[in-house]
Amino acid sequence: MDWIRLTKSGKDLTGLKGRLIEVTENELSKHNKKEDCWICIRGFVYNVTPYMEYHPGGEDELMKAAGTDGTDLFDQVHRWVNYESMLKECLVGRMAVKPVAALKEISSAVSEDKKQLNGVFPEKKVLASSAKDLSPSYDWFQTDRLITVVIYTKQKDVNADLVIVDCQDKQLRGEIIMDDHSYLVNIDLDHAVSEDVAVNIAEKVGKVEIILNKKDNVHWKMLGQPCEGHNTFMKRTDRGLFYRKCKLVSKTEVTHDTKLFCLMLPKGTHLRVPTGQHVYLKHIIAGTEVVKPYTPVLPFLPLDFQEPPCHDGVHIYLMIKIYSHGLFTQALDHLQIGDFISVSNPEGSFKKSQVQTSEDLLLLAGGTGFTPMVKLLNFALTEVSCLRTVKLIFFNKTENDILWRNQLEQLALKDERFEVQFILSQPSKDWVGKRGKISSSLLSEFVKRSRRDSKVLICICGPAPFTEQGVQYLQDLGYSQEEIHAFTA
Ligand code: FAD
Ligand code: NAD
Repeated sequence: MDWIRLTKSGKDLTGLKGRLIEVTENELSKHNKKEDCWICIRGFVYNVTPYMEYHPGGEDELMKAAGTDGTDLFDQVHRWVNYESMLKECLVGRMAVKPVAALKEISSAVSEDKKQLNGVFPEKKVLASSAKDLSPSYDWFQTDRLITVVIYTKQKDVNADLVIVDCQDKQLRGEIIMDDHSYLVNIDLDHAVSEDVAVNIAEKVGKVEIILNKKDNVHWKMLGQPCEGHNTFMKRTDRGLFYRKCKLVSKTEVTHDTKLFCLMLPKGTHLRVPTGQHVYLKHIIAGTEVVKPYTPVLPFLPLDFQEPPCHDGVHIYLMIKIYSHGLFTQALDHLQIGDFISVSNPEGSFKKSQVQTSEDLLLLAGGTGFTPMVKLLNFALTEVSCLRTVKLIFFNKTENDILWRNQLEQLALKDERFEVQFILSQPSKDWVGKRGKISSSLLSEFVKRSRRDSKVLICICGPAPFTEQGVQYLQDLGYSQEEIHAFTA
């Protein structure tokens, strides 16, 4: 908030009195001191000296990129942060030398698109090199009422978690996630379509169909005009995060400071957040875009062994702790039912296959670090037959802070594979259970293999020191890196 206030104060933060200049690499490199520090991010140069004392990671972290192109470092640490908005008053100008290779790629992709968006897709011509032959492609056809866009991923086992479609007004965006890459179809459609969008996936052959309903029964001469990133197959981290506006439909209390927010996706959106992944919420606070990550949960734990309740494809549930001085959570708490908030595509490195081969699953959670464990528990107990034991070791400050305690205890009674252990760091004197913070002795007491050589997966999530210490203790106890998954940003 102090930084936002400073940017709104009208002070000259660049030292250039509002002028924007072209910056050469040589010029950039001269501004490499704390009191005169310029950094380039994605071709734009910022004077970050006034921001030094506000940077959450500290001055030294920012100085790592002083006088250089800090894009890679920025992306590694917090690529979701909306620096354009936060640093707009610090903008010095553009780099004089542009990233030629990247621009060439985009412009050639766009010109190819113009050729192919005439209704007949010349697949072989576009995919010239052998490397490109492996990348997905698309085609489209129409009937009187429907437009069908077909994406050939050329990969097996494409499931609904990997297909994200957004169709609003005349804009169609379809992204297929393929490991750390993604393929994008992004088109400004030639004619209007209705909000109903169907997505069919032929998992075995890797074919995805996006079926749109024409608003007018006219014959389309072309599918539309290509938009940014259309028909590209690239690293996911190189794509900007895509957001859609979701409606807040309910807000229920979980504990004294934690609420379950239910958001509704727009009608034209097909999005499922995979187990172990998070989304970013974006909201404008005091005129500045603020973005924070949250991990979707289920509306409740799977007590009845029914269909997993997570995949209605319409709602996203978020369990969020409201901090009394929290910038974002205070704003979230003030949202009214019916208000909108932007939700990003999912991100995260967790793979379900890590659980599918395990016999013992151990979940270490601190506070809201419980959130990724919710879908994980559901998945493990309803879909993984080789699991013999599932144990949640849940660290909280007080009894009142324990999230879904009742449901967890019921689940432990219902499913003999599941066990829960609560450990409090600030218990009242009546607490008869375990006390303390994460430690080597607590872990050696509770983290155990069910058999001497059983395959184990240990997942850990909570405050950063909790996770860091936990991973260290586990390694000291002899667990290998492959046996540990730490949830981080
Ligand atoms: P800030 O304005 O950043 O901080 C204000 C004050 O709040 C701090 O001084 C401190 O007292 C307290 N505070 C803020 N952040 C933390 C923190 N991280 N740990 C301890 N105290 C803090 N949170 C959820 O509630 N539910 C989730 O599902 C969830 N998922 C996450 C997923 C990922 C990948 C990550 C990295 C974080 C997740 N978080 C989650 C935390 C969330 O992103 C925010 O950090 C949190 O909501 C606080 O934001 P804020 O702007 O309100 O607080
Ligand atoms: P909290 O402050 O209520 O602490 C919960 C418990 O964590 C404590 O009782 C204690 O046992 C342990 N703990 C806290 N600080 C510790 C420390 N310094 N050293 C060792 N143990 C410590 O927790 P909270 O306010 O609910 O915060 C939850 C945290 O989990 C946040 O930092 C949030 O960012 C993080 N989180 C991360 C993800 C993710 O990375 N995927 C998802 C959800 C939440």
